[in-house]
Amino acid sequence: MPCLTGEGGALLEFDGITLRLGDFTLHADMRIAPERRVAVIGPSGAGKSTLLALVAGFLAPEAGRLLWQGVDITQEPPGARPVAMIFQEGNLFPHLSVYENVALGVNPALKLGAGEKARVMRALERVSLGGMEARKPAQLSGGQQSRAALARALVQDRPILALDEPFAALGPALKVEMLDLVREIADERRATVLMVSHDPQDARRFAEEVIVVAEGHAAPPRETAEIFADPPEALRDYLGG
Ligand code: ADP
Ligand code: MG
Repeated sequence: MPCLTGEGGALLEFDGITLRLGDFTLHADMRIAPERRVAVIGPSGAGKSTLLALVAGFLAPEAGRLLWQGVDITQEPPGARPVAMIFQEGNLFPHLSVYENVALGVNPALKLGAGEKARVMRALERVSLGGMEARKPAQLSGGQQSRAALARALVQDRPILALDEPFAALGPALKVEMLDLVREIADERRATVLMVSHDPQDARRFAEEVIVVAEGHAAPPRETAEIFADPPEALRDYLGG
């Protein structure tokens, strides 16, 4: 894999992107500054998951380019992208142990050398799952399952974390705990984070910037405090009142 982190800032650019899914069209023309924590918010069906799938390489645009540090990655397959993704659900394989679920992030064939095994154990420690590596996902609480999914993203060691409503199933206290953990980890690793949420409070708590996706348009990121202080129409409609 090419070296995807480096000096000088790792800018993610959506250059005139048009992506079609049946009748639905997503447009994005914007830049995400290096090492930023960005919330992606907007109504259901607006295209938030589509935007993340585009970044992760699961969907291809019909026009435009996606650039990372100035390099066109539009044609790169998901495994070659600088992106680790966590989905809303289905992140863990129920028949595999916690260790194996995380190890998949290093090697899908689960053949790991000693150094790689140590990396998996370190990631589990980092998310406070040390000692639980032999358990199956069903033997974990919801919060612990989220931590296991996060550990798998960590071992991939990619500079962009794409999180598609990963903590939507957690209660408020656990969700706040996970958001804080992701923020700490993102800071440690100087990662760029794109996190979809339908909860504006998540954006306020977690994100430095907000992208509003509405009616198939992803608007350029704006500073969180500023956008909530003076919301554009699409955000006002979404927030209501
Ligand atoms: P969000 O995550 O904001 O709720 P999505 O990105 O999942 O929205 O979906 C955006 C739009 O694309 C929706 O209107 C959805 O119905 C449509 N869509 C999603 N997947 C497909 C598909 N495979 N074929 C056609 N339309 C799709
Ligand atoms: Mg979605």
